[in-house]
Amino acid sequence: MTLPPFPDGVPARAVVDLDAISDNVRALREHAPSSDLMAVVKADGYGHGMLPAARAALAGGATWLGVATAAEALALRAGLGQHVPVLVWLLTPGAPFADLVAADVDVTVAAPWAVDEVAAGARAAGRVARVHLKVDTGLSRNGVATGDLGAVVERLAALEASGEVRVVGVFSHLACADEPDHPSIARQATAFDAALGVVEAAGLRPEVRHLANSAATLTLPDLHHDLVRPGISVYGNSPGPLLGPPGRYGLRPAMTFQARLASVKQVAAGEGVSYGHLYTTTQDTTVGLVPVGYGDGVPRHGSGGSAGPGGPIAVGPPAARRVLRVAGRVCMDQLVLDLGPGATDSPGDVVTLFGASDGVPHGADVPNAQDWADAAGTISYEIVTRLAGRVVRQYVPTEGEGAS
Ligand SMILES: *Cc1c(COP(=O)(O)O)cnc(C)c1O
Repeated sequence: MTLPPFPDGVPARAVVDLDAISDNVRALREHAPSSDLMAVVKADGYGHGMLPAARAALAGGATWLGVATAAEALALRAGLGQHVPVLVWLLTPGAPFADLVAADVDVTVAAPWAVDEVAAGARAAGRVARVHLKVDTGLSRNGVATGDLGAVVERLAALEASGEVRVVGVFSHLACADEPDHPSIARQATAFDAALGVVEAAGLRPEVRHLANSAATLTLPDLHHDLVRPGISVYGNSPGPLLGPPGRYGLRPAMTFQARLASVKQVAAGEGVSYGHLYTTTQDTTVGLVPVGYGDGVPRHGSGGSAGPGGPIAVGPPAARRVLRVAGRVCMDQLVLDLGPGATDSPGDVVTLFGASDGVPHGADVPNAQDWADAAGTISYEIVTRLAGRVVRQYVPTEGEGAS
């Protein structure tokens, strides 16, 4: 992908490569060739833009879309302009079940209270609610607890018999899929099979059973079932350092986050840099001001100095690229780089916080979201999802112009 021109007068931008999203979905389908694929587009498409990400994922062969909240599901349905199954899984009492059912959104029953609400929603909407039962197989987060499962399944079976709901799916979520060979994986797989047994014994015949997030889609083929639910990998990031870089799986990051240097100036040796003087210059040097901070989603834990190296930022043209580390605190709106003595960088030069690798060797490759996650003690998911609205998004190809 060639990056489009940096927009005039804007301090920072995030370029979203929609072809990368489509290609990543294609690659994921090859990892799970006999399953359908639900692209997870919650949290504004992991920060990439929910609707453009959804369309790109469908172009790449996704057959379902998944979101967390009711508002996301309704916005997706309203904006998508094509009909594919959409599943929403994190609902609270009082959620707009009738609206969701009327919009033909598949709703999740993940707790006993939801059975009555989904039935009421179906009656209010005047149509059969498509329900996925979410079972807790050991994550101890969202999902029907083992002790409640029998009763919930019985009530759902009764509602299916009376024509108010159709139990379309049964699913669960893994706790440690990004840690190869973690003993919880096999335990959860067994618990899921047991839950499927309870569902079938009640006479329910769901169309789709689904358990696999990105990590399981990439590394646990036995757990693919009928449908896989990748999120982070759709956007070209690895689920975690233990699984290795995204390129290992034929994935490439879809987001490139860049800013323009706001100023370049000389600072003498021994001077403290940025709030708290966490970083002290060791020589007469040049510093560059990067106009993004935690108000833009750059993690403050990516500060660099006495406590450790800061987040990585690529500076300079590819042929002469250096990857530098944030010098001192990440502030709300800005951060500083020590460009080194005699640096020839200029105000207006573009620096890259993270993006797709362009293969420049010798450690001068573009940092990726995982590199920032390592520097900030978090995961790549948080890095891409937290980019704030003030960072201008650019889409390539411009929506509607892509061939794929
Ligand atoms: C977020 C989420 C996913 C996607 O997980 P990734 O690790 O991003 O692939 C899948 N299923 C559920 C229930 C989720 O909440």
